[in-house]
Amino acid sequence: MKKYILIADPSKVSRFVLEQYLSDKYNILVSTSIAESKRMLSMAVPSIVLVAYELRDGLGYELCRYVNEKLKNVPVVIISSEESPERKRMALESGAIDYIVRKKIDESIVNYIDEIVELLDISNLRGSNAIIVQKDSLITKFTSNVLFSLGMQVYPFNEENLSDEQLVATKPDIIIIDLDIGNENALTLIKNIRKVGSIKKVPILILTDSRENKMLRSFMLFGANDYTLKPLTTESLLLRVTTNIRTKKLYDYLERVNSELYTLATTDPLTGLYNRRYIIEQLTIMNYNFERYGNNFSIIIMDLDKFKTINDTYGHDAGDKVIIDFASKLKDSVRKTDFVGRFGGEEVIIILQNITEQNLINITQKILTEIRSSNFNYNNFTIKYTASMGVKYCSTYSSSVDDYIKSADYLLYMSKEKGRDRAHVETTSGIIEIV
Ligand code: GH3
Ligand code: MG
Ligand code: MG
Repeated sequence: MKKYILIADPSKVSRFVLEQYLSDKYNILVSTSIAESKRMLSMAVPSIVLVAYELRDGLGYELCRYVNEKLKNVPVVIISSEESPERKRMALESGAIDYIVRKKIDESIVNYIDEIVELLDISNLRGSNAIIVQKDSLITKFTSNVLFSLGMQVYPFNEENLSDEQLVATKPDIIIIDLDIGNENALTLIKNIRKVGSIKKVPILILTDSRENKMLRSFMLFGANDYTLKPLTTESLLLRVTTNIRTKKLYDYLERVNSELYTLATTDPLTGLYNRRYIIEQLTIMNYNFERYGNNFSIIIMDLDKFKTINDTYGHDAGDKVIIDFASKLKDSVRKTDFVGRFGGEEVIIILQNITEQNLINITQKILTEIRSSNFNYNNFTIKYTASMGVKYCSTYSSSVDDYIKSADYLLYMSKEKGRDRAHVETTSGIIEIV
């Protein structure tokens, strides 16, 4: 479907020429005054509005302000025959994304419009945030207008000493730093941004007056991603911002997918506990440290008692919920540095690091009591459940982690044999039963 362009120009000649050039690709709406333009805008939302400096009933700025207020994110370009910094300033202040000078309209206008419309269309940056750090308020306004037309939120700062809180609070997708804040300030800011956790990887775009700036190398080395030369053009700014944010989004996506894959590969979906493979990996690492540095560890293996009866009495779904409840109680009972994994159906393993024999006995007692006193509510039932434990304080090194697991399993078996709902702990001074 063809996109719309609104051309607001009182001159018959330039309207005609613009229409000639653009009507192949776009549906053209034409108007000669602000009032007429407003009427047109209430009928169709154009991709871009081209406004002459002067319209029949007022200056182009007024239409520009209207579009900005009423139709957020529709870009306006003012076309004038006169080169004038003052007019340009006014145009940008009214929200235009560009003030272009054309003594005579030729086909270069087609490329210009195509490029902007296409970039706006494919950028897909709606809802992204930008921080702009610069002293020149006019450039800030210009940058803001352009990014605003991309549907972005812009946070301008004119000081170089941004606090970490300010940086983080805006959740930027790009940070644009104009070197008019001073080379040293810019470098300090870049170094700081690269230190702050959540924004460490946000792309930094430098705006510079000259490619000859000797510090450009340092900016890039210390973490800037890209630079662009001033005076800025609308197209180059659109292009730089779009490509840099796109790279960031791709990176974020890969990181998210990687982390999801990691979670899938290491955890058990029902309980969120680590899975068997991950636990064996951790045990192997700990065993290596045990051999090398003498850091010993302990293993607890637990199995719910008469779990078949719970399934048979309350149903399999209730059984699942009990396993989840059991898992979360165990996770809460140990330290962050310990590992809790689901080893099989209703069997769980805990690996504890840097724990004394006495503390191992204490925690075993604590877990046993806590599980025993659980009142798990399922529908209108209160389900009570218990678990048996096999606990091994690993004090002599074995090259195979299976040996430790087998010992703990045997201790668990002893607890089952002795009547369940109890633990057998193997310490350096023998096996202790805990009830
Ligand atoms: P014991 O005290 O000897 O351990 O008795 P038990 O009934 O718990 O016996 P066992 O450990 O041999 O059987 C475990 C049962 O747990 C068998 C299986 O149907 C059930 N189970 C295993 N995984 C799941 C699960 O993910 N969800 C549910 N609801 N039940 C499970
Ligand atoms: Mg069981
Ligand atoms: Mg079992």
